[in-house]
Amino acid sequence: MFNKSRGMIKPAHALAIVEAIIKTGEVGLFSWHVESGKMEIIELITGKQFDNISSLPQFIDQVVIEKDRDLAKQDLDAFMKGTSKHYKSTFRILDKTGKVRWLFCKGGMLTDKRLGVLIYDVTGGNFRKGNDPTTGFLRGEHFLRKLKNALNHAERHQQKGALIYIDIENLMTIINTYGFDFASEVIGIFSEKLSKLASEQDELARLPHDKFMVLLSNIKSVTKVEKISQKILEEFKNPFTVRSIQMCLKLNMGITFFPELSTDADELMRFSDFALGYSRTKGGQTATFFDSDLMETYIRKKDIEHELPHAIVNDELSLVFQPQFNVQTNRISGIEALIRWKNPKLGFVSPAEFIPIAEDNSYIIQLGKWVAEASLRTARKWLDKGFDFNKISINVSPVELLQKDFREILLKKCAAYNILPSIVELEITERILMSTTDANKETVNTLLNDGFSIALDDYGTGHSNISYLLQFNISTLKLDKFLVENIMDKRWQYIIKNIIGFQQFASYDIVAEGVERKEEVEELIKLGCHTIQGYYFSKPLPMDEIEVFLAEHH
Ligand code: C2E
Ligand code: CA
Ligand code: CA
Repeated sequence: MFNKSRGMIKPAHALAIVEAIIKTGEVGLFSWHVESGKMEIIELITGKQFDNISSLPQFIDQVVIEKDRDLAKQDLDAFMKGTSKHYKSTFRILDKTGKVRWLFCKGGMLTDKRLGVLIYDVTGGNFRKGNDPTTGFLRGEHFLRKLKNALNHAERHQQKGALIYIDIENLMTIINTYGFDFASEVIGIFSEKLSKLASEQDELARLPHDKFMVLLSNIKSVTKVEKISQKILEEFKNPFTVRSIQMCLKLNMGITFFPELSTDADELMRFSDFALGYSRTKGGQTATFFDSDLMETYIRKKDIEHELPHAIVNDELSLVFQPQFNVQTNRISGIEALIRWKNPKLGFVSPAEFIPIAEDNSYIIQLGKWVAEASLRTARKWLDKGFDFNKISINVSPVELLQKDFREILLKKCAAYNILPSIVELEITERILMSTTDANKETVNTLLNDGFSIALDDYGTGHSNISYLLQFNISTLKLDKFLVENIMDKRWQYIIKNIIGFQQFASYDIVAEGVERKEEVEELIKLGCHTIQGYYFSKPLPMDEIEVFLAEHH
């Protein structure tokens, strides 16, 4: 083999080369004579002597760290049984100073029944597949195998384990403010602290998108996991210093127990991720356990995700229409189109439930197109019937608004139905306006230039930055139902009065939403808000009823 096309290497030279390679301290060799039970090792990686070892299984038992022995044995088995062509294995050992070293071994059977293997030291950055250089944690495939084994083990030995998914909520902000290098240092410190909180048996992993996992095997009680998760949360609420900058980490966690909830590694990770998402929506810095309640929510969400993509073709969607009244002129000042979904399996599902799910998986774009099409078609019909509805309002999700062709499609539909943009109002939430980038700002302004009106939905619930609002030529503010509900409260009256004052100053139209009671209407009028939407005047109505209504108000 040595003397093929590249010229011959004499055995003596080969030996010298091998010696030089070994001296780098990064590569080693061993051979194991399977039948006679003789093991020869030369390497300078570990700094150890292996005098009493006569087989690879024995090496694994004595040298490989305990928690990696299962995988190491599996790899050897696979090779010996002929399932894998080469012998390949990655595991950790302790070197003579007690430091963890990652070894990657690769080899094959020699003609004299010896297994010849090359050992590489792949600790840290040398090998990115098995462990993460910044944290020393497991990653990718390696972790998945660990998890699968832990699941099998727990099932076979009737033990309990837990998977903790951790997300650093403010990591993106740290990256944006201080840069990647700095963030990398933060992650380094995070991993050190996390390692200290975990026990020797636990496995730590760094997963894509800077998420982390702690795999706890053989736990004796749920309380233990609760304690660990609390300890982790508390630890990172304490500030620590990185390059003389004080830092706290906002962590969210999702925790799943196994094997009772699942014995499938992928599914378990999805459960933990789902619980993690829950922690985030609960305001963050908490840990959520994936329990039977959450399982129900999860299944419901999966059902919706499964059914929703067929809603359009199966004709399960409809629109209802809620009028807005101007109490001064006694006229309809607009009509809001609201989507409804009735599915044979799930029954009526509220948009408050399915719109966020559609936003998560981009199906919202198709839904949005359907809503725009149906609303504009309806507007055309009403114009033809001579109804006076002033304008039609369509709810637009931020995800839709961010689509490059959103405006183009909307203009085309308007043209197709011969509808002037000036009778179309797009309702967007203030939250999205605040977080929009320059490109999105431009989209909003272009739409305004085209003649569409834009209404800020749920106004008054977020952190309204008035000076920011003034940069846009928004036409309408929709006072959130929450404010209307509290209108009898003097403190809220003060706030509403201010909003209305600002509106008058900046000449916005203001619409009060969710108005249910007479005294709310009276109070709103007193405060200077004259456009009212809510059950007090009319619930959202299906097509036939709204048409009767419009005919009566004609
Ligand atoms: P929203 O845009 O704030 O709509 C107002 C919600 O309040 C509607 O709920 C409406 O039926 C309800 N409502 C109206 N008046 C009253 C009242 O007096 N009292 C009470 N308690 N509620 C009242 P709905 O139709 O269930 O819609 C919920 C949310 O789903 C909407 O909130 C909107 O964010 C979203 N949504 C609805 N249709 C669409 C749509 O076509 N596209 C998008 N992207 N989102 C939609
Ligand atoms: Ca709305
Ligand atoms: Ca609203």
